[in-house]
Amino acid sequence: MSWVSDTQASLQGLLNVTADSLAEYCGLTGNQQENSVFLERQLGLLQRNPSQSVINSFYLASVSEFCAKYLPTLVDAYNAQDAAFSVPMRMLNVVAYLPYFTRFLLTTAKTSIYPTSLVEMCQFLSTLLALEGPNPISEEDKQALLPKLREWDRKYQRQQITRCLKQLEGDPETTLIADGLKQHCERSLNQCGFDGCGKSGTSKLLQCSRCKTAVYCDRDHQKKSWPFHKATCFPAAF
Ligand SMILES: [Zn+2]
Ligand SMILES: [Zn+2]
Repeated sequence: MSWVSDTQASLQGLLNVTADSLAEYCGLTGNQQENSVFLERQLGLLQRNPSQSVINSFYLASVSEFCAKYLPTLVDAYNAQDAAFSVPMRMLNVVAYLPYFTRFLLTTAKTSIYPTSLVEMCQFLSTLLALEGPNPISEEDKQALLPKLREWDRKYQRQQITRCLKQLEGDPETTLIADGLKQHCERSLNQCGFDGCGKSGTSKLLQCSRCKTAVYCDRDHQKKSWPFHKATCFPAAF
């Protein structure tokens, strides 16, 4: 097949919105990779119709059929991904107001949709707690969050949730690990970046004026580090 007819074929496919094509671009069927660009185009086509009422019913019909056939597969695909924001997540947001989704939550999968979001959320909170300490969280929020975290910890048994819970509880061992993470993350901001030098805090350090994320004890160490540092050195907007 020539490139032109190949392109025409995929363009035709793109214009033909069906429940199956939505599933295909969500990566739910066949060997096709998910394709967020094509999915957005198709959702756009569904929503952008000259006759509003006709298009609305066409839109509702397409996404309803999609839900009827693929909702459990979509939720599985969503749960299989580590990223909080993914193509299946995008599609779940599209269908979340349909009665199919409400019924799905009420019947088949009361809890199966939560783990990924919870794990992501707990991991992010855990990192924030390590970098900033528990002080930014009010006592009231903490007391509200702790019972929930304990419940999720029992239910899902994921290390990110356990770690987050123990940090908030002030568990000494977890606090030590969190301090280690903080030191690791801050190292390049307060320790000479020349491999093996290790001069830090107390001496006056020169900051890389470009990225502001590396410091050096003197010009010599800055110069010698440049061949390695340049790969990650970009002008910082802040
Ligand atoms: Zn140095
Ligand atoms: Zn730099």
